Amino acid sequence: MVPSVDTVSARLGRVLVVEDDPGIATMLVRGLTRAGYETGSVTTGKAALEWPVPDVVLLDLGLPDIDGIEVCRRLRESCDAAIIVVTARGEESDRVLALDEGADDYLIKPFGLNELLARIRAVTRRSHHQASQVIHHGVLTVDLRTRKVSVNGNNVALTPKEFAILECLASDPGRTVSRQEVLERAWDEHWYGPTKVLDVHMAALRRKLGRPGLIETVYGHGFRLADPKDPKDPKDPEPTR
Ligand code: CA
Repeated sequence: MVPSVDTVSARLGRVLVVEDDPGIATMLVRGLTRAGYETGSVTTGKAALEWPVPDVVLLDLGLPDIDGIEVCRRLRESCDAAIIVVTARGEESDRVLALDEGADDYLIKPFGLNELLARIRAVTRRSHHQASQVIHHGVLTVDLRTRKVSVNGNNVALTPKEFAILECLASDPGRTVSRQEVLERAWDEHWYGPTKVLDVHMAALRRKLGRPGLIETVYGHGFRLADPKDPKDPKDPEPTR
């Protein structure tokens, strides 16, 4: 039975149980629901990948269709739900693989409900911490987790490269970041190619932000975000929301 995400209270969060053993699935769903979580369950990897994004996924590794490690990897690519791998596989290599593919934690069967609830609380705390990584700098707002950017309350759609450049500057507003550092952080650890590619993306980023003065060029050094109290741009219009 699949509960509707919209109609059930999601006070503690939504947990998706991905488990093909009906006995274990029923026990988990019952325990989690009793603890106050909105809980759904599916028995295949395919169904897990099609589920509306929950807050936490409890992922069995031994699934009938897609291997759990692969499900973990695809979930991590497509959503930011916390993933706790729940497995009978006790081998260290499986746990390492799961963590490397994006799992936040793992539990080895058999385990107690209290331990599971504590692990869920821990991964949820961590993701709430990440959720607060929002940088406000004058009219500019950069959310490092959701990768959303707005200027004066208006959303700005950036390409991944443009966001990476902005992230370099916004993660320490006011500091001058060298061209080399931007290239290394936004492109590759060891960028030896032409640096003109940076100018092209920087021009596009400035154009999209709609404020040529928001990113200052520090000649001979690099770039930095302008002091929000010293706007070089014309007077800002009123925020739209
Ligand atoms: Ca299984």
